[in-house]
Amino acid sequence: MKKTIKDIDVKGKRVIVRCDFNVPIDEQGKITDETRITASLPTLRYLAGQGAKLILMSHMGRPDGEPDMKYTLKPVAERLSVHLGQPVVFVSSPDVVDDAVWAAAEALAPGQALLLENLRFRKGETKNDAAFSKELAGLADIYVNDAFGTAHRAHASTAGIADYLPAVSGFLIEKEVQFLGEAIEHPRHPLLAILGGAKVGDKISVIENLLGKVDGLIIGGGMAYTFFKARGYETGSSILDEKNLELAASLEKKAKEKGVSLLLPEDMKAARAFDNEAESAYFDADKLPPGWMGLDIGPKSVKRFAEAVASAGTVIWNGPMGVFEMPNFAQGTRSLAEALAASDAVTVIGGGDSAAAVEQFGLAGKMSHISTGGGASLEFLEGKILPGIAVIEDK
Ligand code: AMP
Repeated sequence: MKKTIKDIDVKGKRVIVRCDFNVPIDEQGKITDETRITASLPTLRYLAGQGAKLILMSHMGRPDGEPDMKYTLKPVAERLSVHLGQPVVFVSSPDVVDDAVWAAAEALAPGQALLLENLRFRKGETKNDAAFSKELAGLADIYVNDAFGTAHRAHASTAGIADYLPAVSGFLIEKEVQFLGEAIEHPRHPLLAILGGAKVGDKISVIENLLGKVDGLIIGGGMAYTFFKARGYETGSSILDEKNLELAASLEKKAKEKGVSLLLPEDMKAARAFDNEAESAYFDADKLPPGWMGLDIGPKSVKRFAEAVASAGTVIWNGPMGVFEMPNFAQGTRSLAEALAASDAVTVIGGGDSAAAVEQFGLAGKMSHISTGGGASLEFLEGKILPGIAVIEDK
């Protein structure tokens, strides 16, 4: 068990909290979805209520180690001020930590909060640079990690900083570790994993690890075509990971050997082009004509996958079944989300696009747990040690 903010005395202490404020921002600099900000509030309110002096830090987007005001955290400070009911001090330093930031940190009264500028304005952040970790640590007495979405990365603010400060987790990470840990270590069987999406290369290696843990595996979305091609099917101009064809074939074999039922889509909705308005038609998985691209799973697959969900004890879902951003290719993902919502199984949604899809369909409240980290949740479920969690002290 990892120590949390409930296990330590924070009264009057300066507490530096790694949050995930990586929110989407429009052209006008307005936050278009503040789920990640509201998700951080229980931890922040608790700490403020205990009389901690809060120093908050996060990354946003990819400014690539250079100050770029397109990615300033100023709009986050404004929204946080509203949610916390008190002005959150914000010092927009291109160096993230400088004398003005130091002065602001020293001037904090118990319960007050200061937000640092985007951590990725500094190259040292993603390099887990010791000097930058030390600068951040120098601002505080205690380190709290509550950014699950970046816990699979060893960065200065997620890992290096813990070399210099006592480290505990916030409520978000605590909940993630509880739910995901339970889902993989003591699942209600049968344990079914559903993988989809487009990042075939990333997820194909995950399958290998999951095969040792799950009773069933469904592969849909853009991932399926690499398996189809490996079987010798025509895949037209569908998304494909040519490098991993052999691996796909060997995974099918391994699944059989281990007695894991591996389901691929039986049919698909394909289009002439990557366009919502393009001509579209349904094909069986092995009957796609050249020149067409599969953009969603078809009704036979939906039926089969929904049956598997209905008989599962635990379902872990990561990655949409099709290009759900286009309404004409969203049905497969929607139907699967509905099947999860209707089932009695423990349902764990692995962040990123699947979480967005479930939100979009208004089914978020029907899931047991929606992870705040896509990549992080997958690595956790694979059984990998996440650097941002490894640094948290054990109870
Ligand atoms: P990932 O980040 O790997 O979870 O991929 C999510 C993306 O996969 C979404 O933006 C979907 O539009 C995309 N996707 C799902 N199915 C397909 C498909 N058959 N072809 C192309 N893209 C897909």
